[in-house]
Amino acid sequence: MSDVNRVLQAVPIESYIEKFVSLKKRGRSYVGLCPFHSEKTPSFHVSPEKGIFKCFGCGKGGNVITFVQEYENVSFPEALKILADYAGITLEGRKHTKSQYEWAYKINNAVSKLYASLLPGSPAESYLKQRGISLAVANRFRLGFAPNDYHRIENRLANKWPQGKEDFLRKCVELGLLVQAERKSTVYDRFRGRLIFPITDTNGRVVGFGGRVIDKDTQPKYMNSPESAIYHKKQLLYNLAHAKEFIRKNKEAILVEGYMDVIGLAAKSVENAVAPLGTSFTAEQAKLLKRYTDHVLIWFDSDNAGLKAAVRALPILTTAGIHCKVLVSDTQQKQDPFDIAMAHSSEDLKQFIAKHAKPESKFILWYYFHYLYSIEDLAQKRMALKDFFEFVSSLKHDWEKQDYIQKAATLLGVPAQSLQKDFQQDTQKKVIRQPSKQQVFSKGASRAEKDVLTLLLKYPSLWEEEELLKEMQWHHQDAYLLYSYFRDRIQAGEIWKFEDLFTIQLPKDLASLLSGILMETDTTNENDDVLAQLKSIIYNHKLLVLNKQIRATFEKLRKAEALGLSEADEIAKEHNRLLQERTKLQKLLQS
Ligand SMILES: [Zn+2]
Repeated sequence: MSDVNRVLQAVPIESYIEKFVSLKKRGRSYVGLCPFHSEKTPSFHVSPEKGIFKCFGCGKGGNVITFVQEYENVSFPEALKILADYAGITLEGRKHTKSQYEWAYKINNAVSKLYASLLPGSPAESYLKQRGISLAVANRFRLGFAPNDYHRIENRLANKWPQGKEDFLRKCVELGLLVQAERKSTVYDRFRGRLIFPITDTNGRVVGFGGRVIDKDTQPKYMNSPESAIYHKKQLLYNLAHAKEFIRKNKEAILVEGYMDVIGLAAKSVENAVAPLGTSFTAEQAKLLKRYTDHVLIWFDSDNAGLKAAVRALPILTTAGIHCKVLVSDTQQKQDPFDIAMAHSSEDLKQFIAKHAKPESKFILWYYFHYLYSIEDLAQKRMALKDFFEFVSSLKHDWEKQDYIQKAATLLGVPAQSLQKDFQQDTQKKVIRQPSKQQVFSKGASRAEKDVLTLLLKYPSLWEEEELLKEMQWHHQDAYLLYSYFRDRIQAGEIWKFEDLFTIQLPKDLASLLSGILMETDTTNENDDVLAQLKSIIYNHKLLVLNKQIRATFEKLRKAEALGLSEADEIAKEHNRLLQERTKLQKLLQS
């Protein structure tokens, strides 16, 4: 079976889409609010039977792979990979598609290997040992050492590059491995005297590096690769390539702040931890996690900065449809996950995590009404509520907001309605009216065009009616492209079964149209005279078009005659010709 079919078989479309769109069963399909355009009444349909979705509002449609392409804005191979990951399938047939940035992965890989080879016996290794990380764990994370040398990369790797030294150095600068010296035409190593953390994408390819100082004095403590063609720090999570398997297995990801936290947890067999790359957590990263799980445990440092970052990350995750817990350790001791991991055995660590993970609302109430402010004091209570309201308004759903306010009211011992009123007054002050999103309407193919396509797809023998098909007047570009696509395949001698169409892979626009047609198609076979049907559709459509032309020509003629224009004669001739054609067509239709 092909990779595409295996993926389609393993991922029921309704269960996957349900992760992002809340669906209601209606008859044999599901409906919901379209994620691709804004709407108040649902026009987004999913048919489990046919394995396709279709929005009758904006026209988007296709199979589950198309859905991922549209929703995640990724290419077909990437979408396939995402779904394969989701289903836990290893893709066989599809070899790594050669990317235009193959050179970048090659260089990063070579540099990563170079740094790793320099780790044993280095000050970085001593540092790791002293913190309790063995060489074996370090190797699993491909940790390395960048010595305090300005030209290590050039000296060790430049001459091995097939395209020559110049090319190599230029590309290393592009990737941020080398820095161009100001004024001079020389380049030098960016990472020096640092413990190196290679950063991989979800496929495990090295896309960038993080470097941590080993001594206490050097600044900055952490340094990362700058953005490059393959390194986008807001769209990556440290260790996700390795952790994704464990995240799926545990049905939960642990989000920590730094590389060392991830490594410390992994050293104690907690393998499902990931970290953002030195910036605050982003919506893209939340979407990335959502591919693998609906549950995230946020475990940042239990100090002011860490707790604040957790409060900030929480609505980003819940907006992506992820349920959160937050782990707060003893705030008096301010230990980070790394230290806590090191202080526990594997078993104890798991118990510690289970014991200290708070449900999100508990954490938030604790944070505002206990940790940050003391509600015994009226002035502090006021400030606590102000901050709390601000948090609540960052939540996506009304019911979430209600829920939080309800819980806060219980905690504070005030009626929920009065708190609700305060919240509304508070937020009304801040509301800035935003222009509503422009609704997208696709012009769409005409009924006749869809009907012709439907018949041709259902009854391939009709393709033999070449003369008749030539009479069809196509107006919608996608409809014509879809028609040509299948005509070419027929002419190339291909045959297919109707069921195959549900899994066929087409460009996005055509997939949308095809799925719309399939969604409306009755899949049972009628025994009617399908050729007569096809004729009737094509000729009636032609008649419709002809009538429009006749009306338009008549209008032109009337104006030309009224103005006494010389081309009136020409227009009259054309009008006559159209009338004759119509008579012929009408006769044909009656026969
Ligand atoms: Zn839509």
